[in-house]
Amino acid sequence: MTPLADQWRGVGVEDLDEQDDRGPARLLRSQSRALLRSLLAPHGRAFAVAAIVLVAETAARLAGPYLLKLGIDRGIPPVARGAAPTVLLSVVGVFVAVLVARGVLEHAFLVVSGRIGQDVLLDLRQRLFDHFQRLSISFHERYTSGRVIARLTSDVEAIAELLGSGLLSITNGVLSILGISVVLGILDPFLAGVALLVLPLVLVLSAWFRRRAVVVYRQTREAVALVIVHFVESLGGIQAVQAFRREPRNQAIFDDVNGRYATANLRANRLAAVFGPGVSGIGRASVALVLFVGAQRVVSGEMTVGALAAFLLYTRRVFEPMQDLSQFYNLFQAAVAALEKLSGVLEEKPQVPEPDHPVALARPSGRRGHQVDFDDVHFAYGTTEVLSGVDLVIPSGQTVALVGPTGAGKSTIARLMGRFHDPTEGRVLLDGVDLRDLADDDLRQAVIIVNQESFLFSGTVADNIAFGRPGASRTEIREAAQVLGAHELIEALPEGYDTDVRKRGGRLSAGQRQLVAFARAYLADPGLLVLDEATSSLDIPSERLVQRALHNLLAERTAVIIAHRLTTVEIADRVLVVVGGGIVEDGAPHDLLGVTHGHYRALHQAWADSLV
Ligand code: ADP
Repeated sequence: MTPLADQWRGVGVEDLDEQDDRGPARLLRSQSRALLRSLLAPHGRAFAVAAIVLVAETAARLAGPYLLKLGIDRGIPPVARGAAPTVLLSVVGVFVAVLVARGVLEHAFLVVSGRIGQDVLLDLRQRLFDHFQRLSISFHERYTSGRVIARLTSDVEAIAELLGSGLLSITNGVLSILGISVVLGILDPFLAGVALLVLPLVLVLSAWFRRRAVVVYRQTREAVALVIVHFVESLGGIQAVQAFRREPRNQAIFDDVNGRYATANLRANRLAAVFGPGVSGIGRASVALVLFVGAQRVVSGEMTVGALAAFLLYTRRVFEPMQDLSQFYNLFQAAVAALEKLSGVLEEKPQVPEPDHPVALARPSGRRGHQVDFDDVHFAYGTTEVLSGVDLVIPSGQTVALVGPTGAGKSTIARLMGRFHDPTEGRVLLDGVDLRDLADDDLRQAVIIVNQESFLFSGTVADNIAFGRPGASRTEIREAAQVLGAHELIEALPEGYDTDVRKRGGRLSAGQRQLVAFARAYLADPGLLVLDEATSSLDIPSERLVQRALHNLLAERTAVIIAHRLTTVEIADRVLVVVGGGIVEDGAPHDLLGVTHGHYRALHQAWADSLV
């Protein structure tokens, strides 16, 4: 592997490697088998119909050369001049009937198998999407969007191809080979032996091909996954890419993975180019051998001309499906690998599972905010402990600002409040109920997290606000915007509330995006609002608007803000200074200013200095 791809590999694509070079049958681990079973189980009856149709179709296909034999042997011998060529006519009649039957059966098979294939894929994609949505944030942090897309596209596609063309060609092929061997044995056992004399050669060639194909096709799959992942992730972060002039480097990495993909494909191509012609060459040699030996048997009267003709046609047909094997082998391997990865992903359990017996969370009447308790909370990402025994009580309605150096653990505290993770030790409680005991719906209603990105979805401004409370009326949406002082600003947009925000709000300014996100949170009316304030500074008018909005949004609500601005800290009732995973100062902003050598005092001084 080249150094560039090596470096890039560090960014979380390590699982693209399939660990195993063993035979495909053993590769199909039990979880893949379970997935396959559950996907195919509902289609048992359709499979039975498809199998019957396929056997009938194979029989019709194999009848052709035999009818030809009858036609030559019985239909051609001279008949009296003027007499009707009855035998020939009836043979031709049957031949045409068989042709028609074959066409109908082929059609029926394609319809039934196509239906099964699409149903299976529909089910699979649905399950995947549903599952990906439910997996925890920690999973998505680990599993990049490129890989999610690779699962949903190339892996599902691999299974689609196997179901679509692969299975048909292989079942067809195996049935043909078996059927033809039987017919040849009945027609002339001796000549059948001659025809199959070359079979060991095919077996040797197949073994050689298989050994190489395992490696080569695996390389192609890895390479295509790298191409997809790189494509998705570089374009997904295109703003950063352009801002940091990373285009040449990304281009270089892409050229590298793209080149690897092309090389791997060329190798696969070359391999197939040896195997396919190799098998058909052996097949033609076999036909020549049958012609030579068969002709002698015709001369010596041991065989009819018609039988020889049929024999030659059958012999050719034994080798045809063998050539398809190379294609099938590729499809099969790809599908097995895909199944492996898909079942692996589907086996992932959400790390914050919903409780079996959830406890109801009632918001005490007359109160807008929940009380939050951290009871000796420890938390580690992997093995590094980030929070070490945090104890905290936030009474209902209090606004708390979290301040402290980067990496201190502020966001981690915020994430634990939204149950994006569970504490490794200790408990996080909302009105006395452990977050782990809450139903997902209750939790999401009770706690809203507004983060730095103020994520907007494609759609109109109104849609984006209504996201906070699905089904909200236009009046409610306007009210929310009005309370937060965003109404005039939204009205001033080209189409007011119906302005399309475009992808991730690219059309709105940073301040406008925040106001829309606030309005959304206001409409959702959570009992606990967790806000990661944007670090990027706003211009003074926007800053004022945002601060005023914040004031209204926070009224009476319990709120925790990761604060980056002095103005925000000043509207808080209480400041918590987080350093090294623990709370080192706790008090009203004004009181903390009085602490000599205090962290907050220093921070406040730094902010105040930056304003002058
Ligand atoms: P803050 O919000 O105060 O900047 P964070 O809570 O984001 O701090 O981070 C606290 C510590 O946890 C840091 O050392 C950071 O590197 C680490 N950390 C944060 N998120 C993750 C993550 N997803 N995986 C591993 N470590 C993380």
